Amino acid sequence: MISRSSIDKVKDAARVEEVVGDFVSLKKRGANYLGLCPFHNEKSPSFNVNPVKGIYKCFGCGKAGDSVRFVMDHEKLTYPEAIRYLGKKYSIDLEEEFQPEEAKIELAERESMLLVNQFATEFFEKYLWETEEGKAVGYSYFVERGFTNETIKKFQLGMHPPGWTSLIDAAKAAAYNTSYLVKTGLVIEKEDKLFDRFRGRMMFPIHNVSGKVIGFGGRILVNDKKQAKYVNSPESEVYHKSAVLYGIHLARKSMIAEDAALLVEGYTDVISLHQAGVENVVASSGTSLTAEQIRVIQRYTKNITILYDGDSAGIKASFRGIDMILEQGMNVKIVLFPDGEDPDSFAKKNSPLFVKSYIKDEAKDFLSFKIAVLHDEVKGDPIKTAEMIREIIQSLALIPDPIIRAVYLKECAMRLEIAEQTLINELNKLVASGRKKEYEKQQRAQENTHADDTAEDPFIDEANGEVPLAEIKQLGWAQERDLIRILIKYANLLITFQEIDEDKRIIDAQIRVGDFVVNELLNDGLLPENTDLLRIFDLFVGITEGDFPADTFFMHHEDELISKIAIDLCSEQHVLSAHWREMHDVYITEEIQLLKKMVLGAVYSFKLRKVQVMLDVLNVKINSNIPEEEVMQALEEMMMLQKAKMELAKQLSYVIL
Ligand code: ATP
Ligand code: MN
Repeated sequence: MISRSSIDKVKDAARVEEVVGDFVSLKKRGANYLGLCPFHNEKSPSFNVNPVKGIYKCFGCGKAGDSVRFVMDHEKLTYPEAIRYLGKKYSIDLEEEFQPEEAKIELAERESMLLVNQFATEFFEKYLWETEEGKAVGYSYFVERGFTNETIKKFQLGMHPPGWTSLIDAAKAAAYNTSYLVKTGLVIEKEDKLFDRFRGRMMFPIHNVSGKVIGFGGRILVNDKKQAKYVNSPESEVYHKSAVLYGIHLARKSMIAEDAALLVEGYTDVISLHQAGVENVVASSGTSLTAEQIRVIQRYTKNITILYDGDSAGIKASFRGIDMILEQGMNVKIVLFPDGEDPDSFAKKNSPLFVKSYIKDEAKDFLSFKIAVLHDEVKGDPIKTAEMIREIIQSLALIPDPIIRAVYLKECAMRLEIAEQTLINELNKLVASGRKKEYEKQQRAQENTHADDTAEDPFIDEANGEVPLAEIKQLGWAQERDLIRILIKYANLLITFQEIDEDKRIIDAQIRVGDFVVNELLNDGLLPENTDLLRIFDLFVGITEGDFPADTFFMHHEDELISKIAIDLCSEQHVLSAHWREMHDVYITEEIQLLKKMVLGAVYSFKLRKVQVMLDVLNVKINSNIPEEEVMQALEEMMMLQKAKMELAKQLSYVIL
């Protein structure tokens, strides 16, 4: 651990314009600097660096933070890694605080495993390139697959020599401890005997984000029914299958630049697409897609395109993928390849140019895709049609953001030629029943707190995939985050409403965003539920008179938690504007242009969510054993809330559509 005082020293020394200047070419504009944003594609600069405040901010994509945050985001480093980077840059010796022995040993063990993996990778490469058998068998296999020398080297492909102990012998000769060979799974230990796991296989090293080899996939050379075509490294200290994406180290830059990730099934799909010049591609190989893998992608982009086979297994897998991606609050498109083709074989048969345009042209948004696929199955049968609608609604119900959900719903109603209200009712039933289950589970967990402490830990449920992830991993609900974000970022901007003056003339009245939001919430007595967000709101209400620079105030707040939340919120890309672009092909570069819609949308969504939660609670209450007179009262309350909800939903739909 780095000591607090060292961290402070680094933060004091790091000039934001210098830190950013290492990666972005900056031009001085008055007191500030301006450059092209490194976090999204742009032609005219909207990336602003403010040396006085010590922060940067992009007016295009909304990314913002201080010098530490910049290094973290730009280089994809953790907080301590970023501090170390800056310490080096400014030649500050970092004091390391006492680390428990165990942690040190663990660290040393992981490092040793990575070293062994690196040794093995080079060993397999050497065998492929430099030995007679490696060249004759291994190298020509890859050439036959259509891989160029450059590609083979880029992916560090190799071949494991045949025989039972060739890797073991080589590692011993190079003075590696065989226990790490066993721990990484390169070697199997059975009844005190050691033998190589991947004997005679073609080796595909699997890398982590920073390019270190953490595991291997090994393909058999000659197809043999008795043996698995692919063998993968077992789970280990350094190889966590569920969070690994093949190709991530080569794809990350391009995923950011393209603001999209392509998801394929296998190693060879990734490799062939690279060779065709498509680089923003990763594979979930070895496992079916997991929520963890999706969250890794989410660090780089919110847009995923799934590339699967057009056979029924591929379609089924893509349906599962779609739902998981939607659940994470991300956008998903699908490209199917002709039956019998996977991206690998397709990329091999066609020119790079055609492959690129195929992916671009064939990508369907998930709604059109599901409708198209299911439509074929239904063939006008009314019962099957009803099932199809439910199937689609089920996907919609997973989308955590109510605004996006509403937009899709509208779209869906139009395409299926069904009354929107029918879909809304169906969807609400699903969402409510999901939330009811969640609520009951919380109740149960609370009851069990003393009996079983682990029942409370949301991450345990998360591992089972039972609780909607988007809601847990973030601080508070999306809606309240959004509201506070707007408060911090735009408090002093003005929005315009039309009013009627004494002479019955329509006039424009302007109000500060901060005042508007505060009034709306306080008048209805609806407050953020998350205690940290509530504190920010309270602080804001306390000093809301006059113009005050809310963004600087909160981002540099002495309470580190508040400053962290503020910077986080201000660096979030606004989900609504991104989606708008997606749905309506409108390219909105400045969030500001959307300000009024955004503010109203955020206020209504926030209220809607509050009302919905109250309704759910009431619902559960009514369905439990409560006295008769309380039922009556609850029902009355419910009717009022229903009315409020409909009103809000109506206002919200005016705003967004
Ligand atoms: P072929 O030359 O017969 O097409 P292949 O090596 O291309 O073989 P496929 O069966 O086409 O393999 O599968 C494509 C991808 O799916 C592979 O790149 C691999 O990543 C993955 N895959 C296939 N089978 C397995 C398996 N048993 N375990 C893990 N991954 C597999
Ligand atoms: Mn294949």
